[in-house]
Amino acid sequence: MSAAGEPPDAQEYEALLQFLYMAPVGLVQLAADGAIQMLNPLSAQLLMPLSRDGGLTNLFEALAPVAPDLRSRCASYAEPHGQICDAIRLYLHAGEQAGGPQVMSLSMLKLGADRLMAVLTDVTLQDRRERQLRKTDAWLNAIMTNIADYALISLDRQGRVESWNESIQRVTGYDAAAITGQPYARFYPDGATTEAQQLERLREADDNGWTLDEGLRLRADGSEFWGSAMISPLPPPGDEAASALAPAADDEAAYCMIIRDISDKRDVSDNLRKATYSDHLTGLSNRRAFVEAADLELKRRKKAARPVSLIMIDADHFKAINDRHGHPAGDAVLSQLAQTMRGVCRQVDVLARIGGEEFAIILPSVGLDAALAIAERLRAEVDKTPAIYEQRPIAYSISAGVAVMDDTLDGFDGLIKRADEALYLAKRRGRNQVAAWEAPATEQP
Ligand code: GH3
Ligand code: MG
Ligand code: MG
Repeated sequence: MSAAGEPPDAQEYEALLQFLYMAPVGLVQLAADGAIQMLNPLSAQLLMPLSRDGGLTNLFEALAPVAPDLRSRCASYAEPHGQICDAIRLYLHAGEQAGGPQVMSLSMLKLGADRLMAVLTDVTLQDRRERQLRKTDAWLNAIMTNIADYALISLDRQGRVESWNESIQRVTGYDAAAITGQPYARFYPDGATTEAQQLERLREADDNGWTLDEGLRLRADGSEFWGSAMISPLPPPGDEAASALAPAADDEAAYCMIIRDISDKRDVSDNLRKATYSDHLTGLSNRRAFVEAADLELKRRKKAARPVSLIMIDADHFKAINDRHGHPAGDAVLSQLAQTMRGVCRQVDVLARIGGEEFAIILPSVGLDAALAIAERLRAEVDKTPAIYEQRPIAYSISAGVAVMDDTLDGFDGLIKRADEALYLAKRRGRNQVAAWEAPATEQP
């Protein structure tokens, strides 16, 4: 993979071009006026149904029947570089095709004043559609980030490092002797991946054309960095079509792996923070962040007496929503509930998803009456705003329990218990309502 005599920059540029060439997506580089400068074999194949006279010279013209606004979209994009559009669906007029029209996804990147990159993916296969698009996104991000620091590695069929270039040394600190023949897991922190997972990823690369993950990576000296790792099957020697893959011999290069340092130090801590403290589905705080915030709030309260309220929320009959609309629709409902919560709450409130369809809100400096009003506003907002999933409205409701910290409680657990009891009350009274915690008769003064 390294050509002696060339300066490293040229070498790496060459490697990147090779990588683009065998990319499992169609790539077209074009000038600002749409004139095609470079296209890889896959994009030529994808654009075939659109080339009227067998020639492809201008992408805007070629795509005009299916994306008439592409030229103006690109022209009106004012940033010096960035993503102009993301995964637009193009329905190709290929009625003669069995099984319906061919569907292509198009993303446009602006790389410079007179340089655009079109990324084309065939998304015809309905069952693979969602996955494909998500990966295209991730893949775009991978090529969008600064290309200065990446390690290009080839792996054999078992995922062992087969060859290396200097960039591995620079990005990971490993030298050739130490890493050749080792499983690629050596670039991952201990316990971050299992042998079975590694093989699974190779199979995924075989099936989908590539696989990409982001997370902590390990250098030879034990230090960690935030990186992305993409694995893509290599076409067999002498075969240009990336689609016609035949298994390589056991010790031959079968995959290309690209590890990139995708963040400076600040991003690392941001990403780590996000991964550690936020709920992946809704973007709200996760349980861990919730517990830490509660702890902090109690400490503050000890220094200066002020009220703290807690709202516990549980989506009503959520099992039925999943049963009726499917789990992905249920997920969308939860995301939109989180969005509604953000709309009703203040910046200082802590919004957390603490269970499957269970949420909590910590309201600093808010007494019981105000907390009840906020909970009621949220309930009413949810009640009148159905979630939307695949253009269909899904009506749903929530129940909420509210409690306020007082001096008879000596920890947050007690407050959670009270808010939970209030929530139970709201459920028992018929759901889609808010209840305040009520002291049992024996506890009343
Ligand atoms: P209730 O009104 O009493 O709360 O009834 P419920 O069905 O909401 O309560 P239950 O606790 O029996 O069921 C909760 C359901 O929430 C079951 C589970 O499948 C679903 N759920 C939990 N987490 C998730 C998730 O992340 N996504 C989706 N779509 N559903 C989830
Ligand atoms: Mg529940
Ligand atoms: Mg529920």
